[in-house]
Amino acid sequence: MEKRGELYAGKAKSVYLTDDPDYLILRYRNDTSAFDGEKVEQLDRKGEVNNKFSAFIMQKLEEAGVPTHHAGLLSAEESRVKKLDMFPIECVVRNIAAGSICKRLGVEEGIDLNPPTFEFFLKNDELHDPMINEFHIRSFGWAGSEAVEKMKELTFKVNDILTQLFAAVGLLLVDYKLEFGRCKGEILLGDEFTPDGCRLWDAETRKKLDKDRFRQGMGGVVEAYEEVARRLGVDLS
Ligand code: ADP
Ligand code: UDP
Repeated sequence: MEKRGELYAGKAKSVYLTDDPDYLILRYRNDTSAFDGEKVEQLDRKGEVNNKFSAFIMQKLEEAGVPTHHAGLLSAEESRVKKLDMFPIECVVRNIAAGSICKRLGVEEGIDLNPPTFEFFLKNDELHDPMINEFHIRSFGWAGSEAVEKMKELTFKVNDILTQLFAAVGLLLVDYKLEFGRCKGEILLGDEFTPDGCRLWDAETRKKLDKDRFRQGMGGVVEAYEEVARRLGVDLS
């Protein structure tokens, strides 16, 4: 498969067309951003770690019955994916309160959420990704009812699979964000699953092992991602 022109450069990944119109190449860069792109830094090895991390998780999800765009690793920092028509929506599930929900609702970080919460956000940096509900999604035509139901179902299914996967290696899956898209009538999980887009805490010490280390200037960001990858058995060689 041949790499063609750049389709889009996001905050952390670049997307390339290929000679096959059904496939794209995602290149994971070392760029790390927070606060809607206000804080940006280059972190050595992050692109490679996240590429391999996401490939590992997507494969586990596929095996457990979640359809994904992942079509294989191409190089240390690149993966081949099915080209999706992305919904401009972020699906967030939270098992433990942290981040924006604490500010928004005035709740303490670390409270267990039982049952887990589900939130939709509009993917729009200029508007700071506002929280939206299903009515907004349908009224503005960002997705139809069936797609909304499917995204919720798949996002919770991912929670069942991944809370267990992480628990088995002593990690708490605090929250995560997923993005979906449509491919030939089917709704597939797109984008990435990495510590850039989820929160992971050590189950015993509650040490943060995700992008909050970057947001909060704690240091050891990529080292924490590598620790999670090592515990899971992701091949980082
Ligand atoms: P952002 O756009 O939030 O800055 P990234 O830097 O991760 O994020 O850029 C990757 C972009 O590629 C995102 O906009 C994402 O929605 C999009 N994307 C991810 N997977 C696919 C796919 N399979 N097909 C088309 N677009 C995709
Ligand atoms: N998240 C993300 N991209 C976004 C917004 C959130 O990957 O544009 C992830 C974030 O890393 C966390 C979860 O979604 O794991 C919930 O994020 P939250 O709403 O708490 O926002 P934050 O305070 O992290 O910006």
